[in-house]
Amino acid sequence: MFTANMAREWVKESSKKIEGNKDQLTNLDQALGDGDHGLNMTRGLKAAVEQLDEDTDEPGQVLKGVGKSLLSKVGGASGPLYGTFFMKAGNHLEGSKVEFSELASGLRIGVDGMKKRGKTERDEKTMIDLLEPVIEVMEERGNDVTPDHLMERANKSLDMVMEYEAKKGRAAYYKEKSKGKQDAGAQSSYYIIQALAEVIK
Ligand code: ADP
Ligand code: MG
Ligand code: MG
Repeated sequence: MFTANMAREWVKESSKKIEGNKDQLTNLDQALGDGDHGLNMTRGLKAAVEQLDEDTDEPGQVLKGVGKSLLSKVGGASGPLYGTFFMKAGNHLEGSKVEFSELASGLRIGVDGMKKRGKTERDEKTMIDLLEPVIEVMEERGNDVTPDHLMERANKSLDMVMEYEAKKGRAAYYKEKSKGKQDAGAQSSYYIIQALAEVIK
């Protein structure tokens, strides 16, 4: 069962991981972009933690709030994309006790919204290449999903996205040269999934 407290923990833990790895995210975005991803994400998640709805017992409400914070605090490509993800996921979740299978459905709607907003498909070397495969394993496993399922899929996807050629965002400018370098957004998504895996334990 996914509760509001777990949703809040997810956000706080994500913020810690992103801030702790801010320099790595900056360096990755420096190699294939403009070097602001570490800063963008740290600022966004800090705001999300500060503005976290501590009173609600509905996880959907918590995630909606996170989406709003990210939309308003993060410029650049990642703000609207992660903002859409959390808003759409939050909108789908109902009530105070959400089954993991329902969480998977919400995150599916979130990532589909992200794809639409970014006009992005799979295998274009973005955060979608990390998030969508993990959501698929959640859909497959339903209420029996474990942290190991999430992390197995996340680790595999992180290795795969590194080899892709970038087709979206600033990284697309590097064409062939983007192969073998990690995408900053896929890396930040990895930390967000790691945080979720810790929370659903
Ligand atoms: P900006 O590129 O505006 O500086 P960030 O550096 O915060 O924004 O985010 C860059 C990340 O956003 C990329 O590493 C990539 O994962 C993701 N991204 C960029 N454009 C798109 C897109 N159209 N669809 C999905 N993800 C994208
Ligand atoms: Mg950038
Ligand atoms: Mg930028």
